[in-house]
Amino acid sequence: MTRVHVVGAGLAGLAAALRLAERGAAVVLHEAGRQAGGRCRSYFDASLGCRIDNGNHLLIVGNTAAMAYLYAIGATDTMTSSDGAAYPFVDLATGERWTLRPNSGRVPWWIFSRGRRVPGTRVGDYIRALGLRRAETETTVSQSLDPEGVLFRRLWQPLAVAALNTEVDQGAATLLNRVLAESFARGGSACRPLVPREGLSESLIDPALARLGALGVEVRLGSRLRAIARTESRAVGLDFDDGQIELEESDAVILAVTAPVAARLLPGIDTPNEFRAILNAHYRAAAPAGSPLFIGLVGGSAEWVFRKREVLSVTVSAADRFMDTAAEELAPLLWRDVARAYELPVDPMPPWQIVKERRATFAATPAQVARRPKTRTPWANLMLAGDWTDTGLPATIEGAIRSGFAAAEALGAPQKHLSLASVEAMVAPARRPVATRD
Ligand SMILES: Cc1cc2nc3c(=O)[nH]c(=O)nc-3n(C[C@H](O)[C@H](O)[C@H](O)COP(=O)(O)OP(=O)(O)OC[C@H]3O[C@@H](n4cnc5c(N)ncnc54)[C@H](O)[C@@H]3O)c2cc1C
Repeated sequence: MTRVHVVGAGLAGLAAALRLAERGAAVVLHEAGRQAGGRCRSYFDASLGCRIDNGNHLLIVGNTAAMAYLYAIGATDTMTSSDGAAYPFVDLATGERWTLRPNSGRVPWWIFSRGRRVPGTRVGDYIRALGLRRAETETTVSQSLDPEGVLFRRLWQPLAVAALNTEVDQGAATLLNRVLAESFARGGSACRPLVPREGLSESLIDPALARLGALGVEVRLGSRLRAIARTESRAVGLDFDDGQIELEESDAVILAVTAPVAARLLPGIDTPNEFRAILNAHYRAAAPAGSPLFIGLVGGSAEWVFRKREVLSVTVSAADRFMDTAAEELAPLLWRDVARAYELPVDPMPPWQIVKERRATFAATPAQVARRPKTRTPWANLMLAGDWTDTGLPATIEGAIRSGFAAAEALGAPQKHLSLASVEAMVAPARRPVATRD
């Protein structure tokens, strides 16, 4: 390789550029937008008067590719965490509160402890969930687990909808199985949640750009790829809005754009073509000191509420049903849930912002999973990356970064695998709490 053109500066493109530049390749990173980060970024919101994230993103320690990426860009200490694996929930229908606390080792003795498992559930409910391991490619989440049970309503459903961004009666059970295999099945250490102390860009994007700069990578923002010239076996030219690039014999391309853009640039390549929305509501409000970093909500409209530095932020996944509802209607609807979760007064509602991401991720249905392409294409010097490629995971930060590392590996930059133990050691200081506005 003399030069690699990475197109798309979301996490997949950033991860690919990073691994290649570390191996000494000359890398040019092209991004259509004025800002890197794609679907994972922060920006200043004028109506709230502060920076917000485009959406709430949760990582877990078991996301070893994401952790390797954070380590490589020198940003592990920008993340914060609860002390151990702790997932606080509130059931808005009954007012019950509990904290799910898997023990750290692989033997899940926590399911025998009433204080650690979900209230109203029995040990057998968890054991029956092992049936998910036998899920066929066509099976949905609700077909693989008991959808009538308390455990389903209070754990599997909120978890599956958040992880797959797809309704449980449509989401692929195989993907949820993979998520659980990389989290709960590895013990509480792997499940420990991590969120950015400041914001997504401050943790995942800005340090990456700084590292890429130090490695000599040229980053071209506002550079939109319009077409890829190809022979039968190779990509030979790139046509950008601002000019054309002729590819040398030893040049390579990593296409790390979104699925619809990839489908347009490479007609004939199968890509997911059905998507699901995510709705986020941000409220300029401070949570009581010492309250959890996030809370899972059952039985309301809001699903997960995150306590950020200056805002309380709500996520609703698979939120297509809300896309045509006016922001003025959504803001009070979701605020009622947030206020209950964090025990704040409902009136007056604080300043708010609603962010609708209509095509947040591909729909994680069995039919769409079957459309995910591999890293390699029929063109020897053209690789694909993105959370929609065939990573085996749903559309997540971990999947996007893995896809970028895989594309770099296909061009000769080997992966660097991290053990769970080394990741745990890396995030040990993450117990420092998030600073609040007040
Ligand atoms: C609201 C929301 C909440 C989420 N929550 C979580 C979470 O809690 N945990 C989690 O793990 N994941 C979460 N995700 C998913 C995660 O954000 C994505 O999986 C990840 O960011 C995708 O990265 P990517 O690089 O594959 O794609 P993208 O981020 O979409 O990057 C593609 C890039 O290509 C650029 N591009 C497009 N066309 C062109 C072109 N023609 N030329 C040049 N550049 C182009 C785009 O501008 C973009 O920057 C969430 C996503 C959203 C939207």
